[in-house]
Amino acid sequence: MKQIILLGLAIMLSPFFVQGQSFSEPCGTGLPPKATMDYIRSLDYGVSQTEDTVIYNIPVTIHVIRSSNGGGGFNETQAYLTICDLNNRMASAGMFFYVPEPVNYINNDDYYAATDYSPLFTMIDQNNVPRTVNIYYTNLATLGLCGFAFYPNSGPGGFQNDGAVVMSFACSQPTGTTLTHEIGHFFNLPHTFDFTSSDPISTSAERVTRNFTEVFPRLNANCNMEGDGFCDTPADFIDTRWSCPNGRVQLDLNGDRFRPDSSYYMSYSNDLCMSRFSAQQITAMRNTLINVNASRGYLRINPMPNYPVISTALTQLQPLAGDTVVPNQAVFSWQRIPGVTLYQIKIYLFNFAVVDTFTTDTFYVNRTRDIRPNRDHSWDVRAITGAQLCTPFGPRINFRSTNLALSNSQLIAHNAIEVYPNQLRGGESIYLDKLLLEAPLMLRLLDLQGRMLLASQQEVTAEKQLFTMPSIPAGLYLLQIEQAGRQSFHKIMITN
Ligand SMILES: [Zn+2]
Repeated sequence: MKQIILLGLAIMLSPFFVQGQSFSEPCGTGLPPKATMDYIRSLDYGVSQTEDTVIYNIPVTIHVIRSSNGGGGFNETQAYLTICDLNNRMASAGMFFYVPEPVNYINNDDYYAATDYSPLFTMIDQNNVPRTVNIYYTNLATLGLCGFAFYPNSGPGGFQNDGAVVMSFACSQPTGTTLTHEIGHFFNLPHTFDFTSSDPISTSAERVTRNFTEVFPRLNANCNMEGDGFCDTPADFIDTRWSCPNGRVQLDLNGDRFRPDSSYYMSYSNDLCMSRFSAQQITAMRNTLINVNASRGYLRINPMPNYPVISTALTQLQPLAGDTVVPNQAVFSWQRIPGVTLYQIKIYLFNFAVVDTFTTDTFYVNRTRDIRPNRDHSWDVRAITGAQLCTPFGPRINFRSTNLALSNSQLIAHNAIEVYPNQLRGGESIYLDKLLLEAPLMLRLLDLQGRMLLASQQEVTAEKQLFTMPSIPAGLYLLQIEQAGRQSFHKIMITN
């Protein structure tokens, strides 16, 4: 019984897995335009590429489409994983993809449940961010596609902004290769079978031979002019999803047997068969970026931000191991890494993340009931930059929650900021104690008529720090302090 329930849960949690690739066409990208084939034929593949070690850093904008009411879609972690996987696969091409801006969520049923391409063209036209590779993750189930992309200068969008990559959620899982395949199209790579699969024994089909001086009646190689235009990818005739090794037999016009290579990302072999681009494919992709006049050269106009390198785990400050928190007023904080502007925090009950959220701050205040009363929990946190989207989390720290969530008045008393002395002269300093590190602190000084005499935002660099009172006449005042959701009032007597 238990196993059945677990199995049911697993299926519910993995709708994309159940849907699977077998129901989807691998790719909706059509035949390359003439400009792409002319470009491929124009390149000099004899030049040694070994001296070319420049890494091309390429900005990506991630768009996640959801239904109009915000349902469905993908979270940031899932989207980031696809980019990290892409970077692993594109490393051999010396291309690195970074994400300068947060994920752009678009809630629109027309895009989410598209039944043809036209709303997706509108989506691209209206949402593309110039000088970046725009990747849209959406539901392509009705179209029955894993993804599609546009060759340079062939898609919607505009100047330095044309085309996009559109991915189905279903084919954006960690072992999927569709994104890498579509990126290949975006940088001018055709399918290995293009122009040949339609009629493998026509004179215009790419032939198996690579010999340009065959003896009559055999026909010479035509790999540089037909098929995908590359001679270092074998002639391919299969334009439907296939398993490696290939069991299908097809002869070319010379009577030679086609032996398509399943390891190429631009074939239609199964995801697990694919692992590489050929040297000529890499040359063709890189040359679209080689200078500002190249078809994708605009992607390198804006330099990559100077991201800090995250090499160590974050130092978690509170709660520490064994600490107890109030469930709906739990404050989590960690040490800042200079230059880092995005952190992801997870709070677990057993191994299930009850909180999984991103913040630009170095603290997180949980006001929800996601933290259960009187239980053992744990938490961890990681720093992220646009160039390091898949950094590991730090160690999980165990903490306990109190029995009851406190009422608002109890909350103010709990963990309250302390202020002392409460009697002093104008111009003297008072201590503010039990501050939360690195969370901005708001101070307001009021007189007894409620008039605000001073409002000041302070950086907090220590748990206890001094605040200098202004030179004000003797009398009774109120100091209002706000930090990370905590608010308190303190009576201050100023004497002469
Ligand atoms: Zn394709």
